[in-house]
Amino acid sequence: MRFRFSVSAVRSRAELLRSQLDLLPRSYSHSPFPPPPRPSFGIAFDIDGVIIGGSAPIGGSPQAIQRLYARDGTLRIPFLFLTNGGGVPESKRASQLSKLLGVNISPLQVVQGHTPFRELLNRFEDEPIVAVGKGEPDTVMSEYGFKKVLSIDEYATYFPDIDPLAPFKSWITNETCNKKSATMSVHPSYDVYSERVKGVFVISDPVDWSRDIQVLCDILRTGGLPGQEKGDQPALYFASDDLEYQAAFPAERLGMGAFRIALESIFNTVNDSPLKYTSYGKPNPFVFKNAEAVLGKIVSTMHQNKEMTNKGQAHSFSTLYMVGDNPKVDINGARKAGRPWFSVLTRTGVFKGKDNHAQFPADLVVDTVEEAVDSILKKEGIE
Ligand SMILES: [Mg+2]
Repeated sequence: MRFRFSVSAVRSRAELLRSQLDLLPRSYSHSPFPPPPRPSFGIAFDIDGVIIGGSAPIGGSPQAIQRLYARDGTLRIPFLFLTNGGGVPESKRASQLSKLLGVNISPLQVVQGHTPFRELLNRFEDEPIVAVGKGEPDTVMSEYGFKKVLSIDEYATYFPDIDPLAPFKSWITNETCNKKSATMSVHPSYDVYSERVKGVFVISDPVDWSRDIQVLCDILRTGGLPGQEKGDQPALYFASDDLEYQAAFPAERLGMGAFRIALESIFNTVNDSPLKYTSYGKPNPFVFKNAEAVLGKIVSTMHQNKEMTNKGQAHSFSTLYMVGDNPKVDINGARKAGRPWFSVLTRTGVFKGKDNHAQFPADLVVDTVEEAVDSILKKEGIE
């Protein structure tokens, strides 16, 4: 069989091949083409109210995120998810998002509210700690390397009468309690009756507020031994301080910041000295600094097979986009972080206004994340 090509067809095929090759990770030492320049921009996406609403994708998020990958599935544009949410390890969240969005997301691309708790490993690695919140708070901390961690669910079961309302909570069945106690007694992380809790980490939104506030007041007032004399308050960390967030319900829901206010208000009323705590999460500028560093690492992994043009130097971005739905958290945070951050506000979550937000105006307001990605790529001269 013979094929005949016109000159223009050959040229367009060569161009097509070249454009495809440019998207592939490879070594450039034997390549006839120069490496494409390192991307000068990166994107951080909030999750709740931007990418998903409840548990379903919103605002054309699968299509938007897929545009950031090459046809062969390799990452084309450096991006990450920057959420105040959490409750599961980054690896698990990455695989959940991969399935939802139809792309391959690495755990490095998932920065959750509690991700910076890793940095506290030096201080608490071998200390008894309690992890609070929905999901798998103890697994999150164990995966970070903390050795003596108990979830507040498990911790509370060692103190039978600590929650006088437990018998009225229909969701706590005897069967579950017995099963849990049986497994726990085999491998307790530490002796809760003699070892003082040194740190409390609120990983995600607490589920049983009344019990958690009671048990936390006990731990924090007694210096880590409920039912004992008063003692110095153990360290307390919150993964975020969101007062409200957008879930599946049409109106915003109370978040971790609301729980913090409830706990603090009660603690300060029953205790002599006020509650001491540290809150992480957006809008703290530290979170944006950290995201910039992680995006730099992502660029390095994208180019690891190539000749490094600026080996050993931190990657510098000319623009970093924060795409969020919450003016107080996402936009305020990007504004506080300053350059190179550029804020993009969507109307799919907390913000539903026609124009810009009055108190925390974004650099750009769009309807959906799909529109956000479209505008960013156009602005950067891509496609
Ligand atoms: Mg949000």
